[in-house]
Amino acid sequence: MDKIVKTAMPSTSTTVPVWAGPGRLFMAVALDDARVYNAIRRDEWLICRASRPEAAQMSEARELFALLGQSADASVVKSIERLVAEGPDHQLCRVNPLAFAARRGLDEELSIAAFLHGARLGIFEIAWNVLCPGCGGVLDTNASLKTMRREEYACALCADSYAPTLDEMVDVTFTISPRIRKIAAHSPNELPLAEYYRQMYWGSGVDLPEDSYQAAIDGFIIDHVELAAGEKGVLSIQLPAEFIVIFEPVTHSAQFIDVKGEATRERQSLSLVYDRDHAHNQQMELRPGPLRISVENRSDMRVLPSVCIAGSALHDMLGRRRPFLTAKRLLSNQTFRDLYRTDTLDVDQRLSITSLTFLFTDLRGSTELYERVGDLAAFDLVRAHFQVLNEIVSAEAGAVVKTIGDAVMATFPTPHRALAAALRMREAMRELNQRHGREDLLLKIGLHEGPCIAVSMNERQDYFGQTVNIASRIQGLADAQSILATGTVVDDLQAASLLRQNALMPESHDVSLRGIDRAVRVYEIR
Ligand SMILES: [Zn+2]
Repeated sequence: MDKIVKTAMPSTSTTVPVWAGPGRLFMAVALDDARVYNAIRRDEWLICRASRPEAAQMSEARELFALLGQSADASVVKSIERLVAEGPDHQLCRVNPLAFAARRGLDEELSIAAFLHGARLGIFEIAWNVLCPGCGGVLDTNASLKTMRREEYACALCADSYAPTLDEMVDVTFTISPRIRKIAAHSPNELPLAEYYRQMYWGSGVDLPEDSYQAAIDGFIIDHVELAAGEKGVLSIQLPAEFIVIFEPVTHSAQFIDVKGEATRERQSLSLVYDRDHAHNQQMELRPGPLRISVENRSDMRVLPSVCIAGSALHDMLGRRRPFLTAKRLLSNQTFRDLYRTDTLDVDQRLSITSLTFLFTDLRGSTELYERVGDLAAFDLVRAHFQVLNEIVSAEAGAVVKTIGDAVMATFPTPHRALAAALRMREAMRELNQRHGREDLLLKIGLHEGPCIAVSMNERQDYFGQTVNIASRIQGLADAQSILATGTVVDDLQAASLLRQNALMPESHDVSLRGIDRAVRVYEIR
């Protein structure tokens, strides 16, 4: 959507210039003052003046943002709408919702929720990008987790391969839909080199400098050539005595050259071929001096071989990292689970998570509760308890995976958020009981952190593995006064500091759990 800036208000003149987006000027002519003024006030004026497709696009955008305002936080929606109207193209490509929130002082969870609702409405296109842990580059991008099926992803720049995990290797980003606003990144093959690196190569976890970006790129790229599909070209450069990488970001291939020894005046030469199955990933030695590189593009898309110095300028740029929305965090997000209920993974898919924290709760003595207060009153109480638990889980960046009878299984991206939720749940039950003047709702809570796999089971995105079993068994041992947690939870730095802040000193003892060979040390938080 284009920005609407009124540059002149009608007074006596009947011609009103109006900017509709950068570089485009529309003129309104021969309208009387009152009609122009009223139309401007109603913001309708440009629509009737703009060309048909643009008018349709703008009114569609306006309707979608009005809908978004009904399901997401108003101040976040306003910020998104402003970004879409006024932001430069690159800021609308692969938006990192955490960086978006941080820059504007907005709440992270509310921002994630607004982008998810925006994607559901078609304002944004969601992408699951597999990242290289080394350079932060995007190795593969998917519209859904369902197509993330490779067991290993290779990064030519880092000359390494990685088995994907959902923790830090998949970032989830939001790109504006071309229906709302057409941006340069919608045609990646036309992006100039520096913009291709910024918008297509690096993931949203690399904190690229906003103002000095071009200078930073020029600090390590000596030269490059742009070759359309099937084209041939030549690069003639002076090799400095440095470690050089000729990196091609579209086919993701790299040729490493260790330039050393005595400088030569004699021209050295090298030829490179790019195609789908032919990724350069080799190292060679050359001497400082002139080099002629003949390049041939046998792939079906444009390539951008770039000669880079693998020195401090490149490493400084790659070293600037910022938090990003990981797939793991999104799967543990209540809004995501509500919006994409059964649509996350295929039944035969298993995706690894290195660390996820599980929280299990159950109501103690709920059978007696039904007996004591009767079905109707008990039902209301149990429902009130579910509502409180849901609110706490989502406020602590977690998500309820399922409920089984009166029991709840929830996941959190970190141990400290799960512990914070457990403490708040215990407190909330105390308050509910006080209100009723009886100890009716007694919650048994268990916490455990560890690796697991994300699966799809019974039409639900669920988790599988020993970590889940241990968390569930530990909850079974808890009594209504204590929260039981394992060492992986209480030893977490932020969780430990949360315990200290609340003056809580967990007591440890070893327990044996059904189906687990070794004794497990549990910590009782009273
Ligand atoms: Zn890499």
